[in-house]
Amino acid sequence: MILMNDFKAEPEELRVAELTAMERVLRSGWYVLGNELQTFEQAWARRCGVAHAAGVGNGMDAIEIGLRALNIGSGDEVITTPMTAFATVLAIIRAGAVPVLADIDPGTALLDPASVERCIGPKTRAALLVHLYGQVRAMESWTALCERHGIALIEDCAQAHLAQWDEKMAGSFGSFGAYSFYPTKNLGALGDGGALVCNDAELAQRAAVLRNYGQSVRYHHPTLGLNSRLDELQAALLLTRLEWLEGFTARRCQIARTYHAGIANSAVRLLSRPIQARSHVYHLFVVLSQERDRLAHHLKEKGVQTLVHYPVPVHGQPPCKELQRDPSGLRAAEQHAAQCLSIPCHPQMSDADVTKVIDSINAFK
Ligand SMILES: *Cc1c(COP(=O)(O)O)cnc(C)c1O
Repeated sequence: MILMNDFKAEPEELRVAELTAMERVLRSGWYVLGNELQTFEQAWARRCGVAHAAGVGNGMDAIEIGLRALNIGSGDEVITTPMTAFATVLAIIRAGAVPVLADIDPGTALLDPASVERCIGPKTRAALLVHLYGQVRAMESWTALCERHGIALIEDCAQAHLAQWDEKMAGSFGSFGAYSFYPTKNLGALGDGGALVCNDAELAQRAAVLRNYGQSVRYHHPTLGLNSRLDELQAALLLTRLEWLEGFTARRCQIARTYHAGIANSAVRLLSRPIQARSHVYHLFVVLSQERDRLAHHLKEKGVQTLVHYPVPVHGQPPCKELQRDPSGLRAAEQHAAQCLSIPCHPQMSDADVTKVIDSINAFK
């Protein structure tokens, strides 16, 4: 079976480096908020081309903590997409703010700016872009749109490690970028992890206080925070895995180019190709078909695993049926949810695996 992720197939050299990192932490006798975290935060901020990074417990908390650090909460509206991991919207709700759902562009499944503009009202405080599947696009127009309306731009970068637009990294355009290091993400820990990146020193400091019970100095709590810390073991593992990220990303992009060149079946459509060299880092390679479920079944029979990101748009989830949305509806998101299928695209795939996936899709009738 060609899997969607295959951690057991990762290079032995990486395994050995990870074991060394784990032993370093084990023998250090210090497991939470220490040197490994500080070193990783500095390395990740540098890699993202920003001044600050704050490690947190997971990607969802990175969004909640960032919103709270920006003082976005009760009564404030945050516009985002219904075609995302549920965590994006849950984080807005956890921050006490009100999510408002805008529709997507069917060519990319990214937010449609015209729909976002229809959602803007007097209570709107921010637009939360999701760099879905690893795509970053048209950031100059998003920056301009948010400036024009006096709202914050926020980036959910959970799927977009090392993605760039105009040579700037994902997470460096908005007030902050939220990263997840869940194991399946392009940079993954061996458990949960996340980080918030930003250029504002005060915002980074507020995030560092919020992630640690709202504690400023030991046992003093000027605000009510969370317990959401990136522990030393995960930080050390992330530092190690960061050295492999560029190579792994290049391999993902290479596989995607091969898919774009090789997949040819009138029953299967592909999303738009990336416009710039690194504007898509292929966390997921997604195809579209009106017969999605039959295609998934066909690929399984051929030995190719698939997943659906995402089968139910956020407004189709029971607790979110009444959420505010674009008055023109969310038709493109609903259609995408019905047709999208993610096929394997990870760095451990061999050339033979890639060919097998292409041949299997092209044989679908
Ligand atoms: C994974 C993911 C999240 C949540 O990250 P966790 O670390 O699992 O909390 C948020 N948004 C998007 C787009 C994601 O893919």
